Amino acid sequence: MHTPYSALDLLSTPVWIVSPSAGQITYANDAAKELSPSVELAALRHGRYSAHAEEHLLTYLPALRAREQVVEIWTVCRNEHAVPLSCKLSLLQCDGAEEEMLVEGILASLPGLSTQSSGSSSKQEDRGIFETLFHSNSAPMLLIDPAADGRIVDANLTATRFYGHSRETLCQMHTWQINALGRSVLPIMDEVAKLPGGHKPLNFVHRLADGGLRNVQTYAGPLMHQGRRLMFCIIHDVTEQKRLKDELEHAASRDPLTGLWNRRRFLQMLENAHGQKRRHDQDYSLMLLDADHFKAINDQHGHHAGDEALVLLAKVLETRVRETDAVCRWGGEEFMVLLPRTDLHDAARLAESLREIIAQTRLPLLPTITVSIGVAQHQASETTECLLKRADEALYRAKHLGRNRVELA
Ligand code: GH3
Ligand code: MG
Ligand code: MG
Repeated sequence: MHTPYSALDLLSTPVWIVSPSAGQITYANDAAKELSPSVELAALRHGRYSAHAEEHLLTYLPALRAREQVVEIWTVCRNEHAVPLSCKLSLLQCDGAEEEMLVEGILASLPGLSTQSSGSSSKQEDRGIFETLFHSNSAPMLLIDPAADGRIVDANLTATRFYGHSRETLCQMHTWQINALGRSVLPIMDEVAKLPGGHKPLNFVHRLADGGLRNVQTYAGPLMHQGRRLMFCIIHDVTEQKRLKDELEHAASRDPLTGLWNRRRFLQMLENAHGQKRRHDQDYSLMLLDADHFKAINDQHGHHAGDEALVLLAKVLETRVRETDAVCRWGGEEFMVLLPRTDLHDAARLAESLREIIAQTRLPLLPTITVSIGVAQHQASETTECLLKRADEALYRAKHLGRNRVELA
C-alpha cells in the first residue's frame, strides 16, 4: 500500500504515526511492524514494561508544540519476548490537517544494558524492569564503571536534561568530568564501590554542559552487570535547598547591617574558646569596643550616615584582625572581638592599633569616629559571664577616663 509515509519503511528505526485524538496508530513502518505485529496502541502503551507520564496523548500537545522532549516507554516484542522500548514523541503537522504524532523507537538504547538475549528469561525480565525504571524515572540517574576510570556507561533521559549533554556525549564522559572535584573524586568513588550495599547520600558539586554548577546529593549503590561491578547513581539536585539553608544559617548567625557575627553566634564561639582553654590551656582574650558619642553623630549627620559609619567600622575591624579572631556586633554601636590564643599583652597591642586606625580613618561624607576599648584576658577558672563583665568594666573605665582610649581589665 502506498501512503504518504511509505518512505519511513526505508528506516531501520521503528516509527509509528499516531492520531492523538483518536488514540490510534495510523501508520507503522516495517521496522515497527516487526516489533509489534498488532497495531493496537493500547497494547504498546499499556504493556508490562510500558511507562508514560500522561494517560492521554493529547495532554502532551502543549509540550510538543513547545518542542519539549517527550519520551514514553512502550512494550514491544523482540525474539518472542516482551521488552521495553524508549520512544521519542514529536509532532507532525501537515497543512490544515489534524496534528499527528511521530513516535520513534530508540533501538540503540542502553549501550551498557542492551536488550540482547542472555539466556535466562527471568534475567531478561529483570533487566527490562530495570530499564523501564531507569528511563522513565524523573530523577537523573547514571550508571558508572568505577573500574574504567569512572566512565559513564549510561544516563537516563532526566540526566541528559539535567546535565544538558546528549546521551551519546554523557556516555563518552567520566564522572570526574562532571564532578567539580575533578579526578580527586575517583578515590571517593572507589571507596563507595567497595561497599556491599548503598551508602548515605554524598554531597558534591556537579558541572552542567553550560558551565553552571549545581549542588547535588548522590545516592550510589553497586549493580552487577555482565560480570562487571557497576555503580548505579541517583542524582538529587539540592541547589535550592542548600541556598535556602545557607540563607537561614546566615540570617541566624550574622548581623544584617554589618554582616558581622551576631551576639548569639559569638557566644557559641566564646564557649568554644573556653573549652579550648580548659582542654589545652590556651589563653584567650576579649576586646569590647564602643563608638564614642555616637548619638551625636546620628543627630548631626542623620541615622543613615550613622549606619554607614557602623558598616565602615565593621570593615576596619574585620580587615585588621587575624583570620582566627571573631568580630561580632555586640549591640547598637558596640563590637566584641574574640582573640583565641592571645594573652592580655598582645590583645592590648592590637586594641591600641585598632583604636589608632579607627581614629585616623576618614571617608568623604562620613563623620570621624573614635572608639573606647576594654580588654580582658580569660583568667583561670573564670566563667565567660565573669570575663564579659570585666571587659565591660574596662570599657566603662575607658569612657570615664575621656574616651578614645584602651583600658585593660
Ligand atoms: P558614648 O561615648 O558614651 O558611648 O556615647 P554614645 O552616644 O555612643 O552612647 P549612647 O549609648 O548614649 O548612644 C548610642 C547611640 O548609638 C544611640 C543610638 O541611636 C545609636 N545607634 C545604636 N545602634 C545604631 C544603628 O544601628 N544605627 C545607627 N545609625 N545608630 C545606632
Ligand atoms: Mg554603647
Ligand atoms: Mg557609644
